[in-house]
Amino acid sequence: MIYLNGDFLPIEEARVPVLDRGFIFGDGVYEVIPVYSHKPFRLAEHLLRLQHSLDGIRLQNPHSDEEWGSLVEQIIASNDGDDQYLYLHVTRGVARRDHAFPKGVIPTVFIMSNPLLAPPRELLATGVAAITADDNRWLRCDIKAISLLPNVLLRQMAIDAGAMETILLRDGFMTEGAASNIFLAKDGVLLAPPKNHLMLPGITYDVVLELAAAEKIPCEVREVSEYELRTAQELLLTSSTREIMPVTRLDGKPVGEGKPGAMFARLYRLYQSYKQTTMRG
Ligand code: PLP
Repeated sequence: MIYLNGDFLPIEEARVPVLDRGFIFGDGVYEVIPVYSHKPFRLAEHLLRLQHSLDGIRLQNPHSDEEWGSLVEQIIASNDGDDQYLYLHVTRGVARRDHAFPKGVIPTVFIMSNPLLAPPRELLATGVAAITADDNRWLRCDIKAISLLPNVLLRQMAIDAGAMETILLRDGFMTEGAASNIFLAKDGVLLAPPKNHLMLPGITYDVVLELAAAEKIPCEVREVSEYELRTAQELLLTSSTREIMPVTRLDGKPVGEGKPGAMFARLYRLYQSYKQTTMRG
C-alpha cells in the first residue's frame, strides 16, 4: 500500500494529475528513510531535514511531525518485510502551468515503501568502483529536491563506466557522491567535507561522525581537495540505503591498497551495532 493525499491504496491505483507541479517543474522535495525491524531509523532527523528542504523551497509543511509519524507507521504496517525504505514526497500541488507559486493550492503528499536489501556481502568484501566528475548541479544541494536530473546523469556516467558512484568535484574540492556522501581516511584520520549549500546533509553522514566521535576516532570536518581525494588511503560512501560502503577504485586506479581498509571495517561494525540498538530501543 502507498499513501497519496489522505488515502492508502495499491500503487497501481494511485494517480497524480499531469498538472502536478512535481511533474511539470520538479517543484517538490523528498526524503528516503530506512526501516529496520519495522522501526524507522532516525525519523526525527529525517523529518527535520524535510522541514529544511520545505523551507528551502518556501512550501509550508503539510503535516506535523506527529502526523508524519503516524503516516509512516501505517505505511510500515501495511507493507511486508522487516526492513524497508520509505520514500516521502511533497510537491507544491496541482495548478495551471505557471512558474509563479499558485495560491490556495494543496500540496501533493506521497509515501511509498520498498524492500530494503543490505549491500551484498561480496561488494563489502571487495569494495566498489567510483569515477569523478565536475559537480554541475545548482548551488542549493542542501535541499533534497525531487528535480534530480543532474544527479541522474552523473550517476549514469558511473554505471556506463562500470562503477557504482560518481564523486563530484567543484572548484578543486570534493562535494559528495551523485547519491551519497563521501568520507576519506588517511593515517587513521577520518576526513569529511563540511555541511553547506554544496552537499546534502546526509543522515548517515551524521551517524558516522557521531559514532567516530564516540569512539574517539580522529575526525576532521573541512574542505577536501581533489589531491586529497586522489591520495586517500580509504574512501567511504554513505547513504540511507547503502549504509557504509568501501570505495576501492577511483577512475580505474586502486584507492590505497585497493581493498577495504581498517577505517571501513571499524565504522561498519559500529554502524551495525548502532542499528541493532535502535531496533531494540
Ligand atoms: N547526497 C546525495 C546527493 C544523496 O542523494 C544522498 C542520499 O540519497 C546522500 C547524500 C546521503 O544522504 P542520507 O545519508 O541521508 O541518505
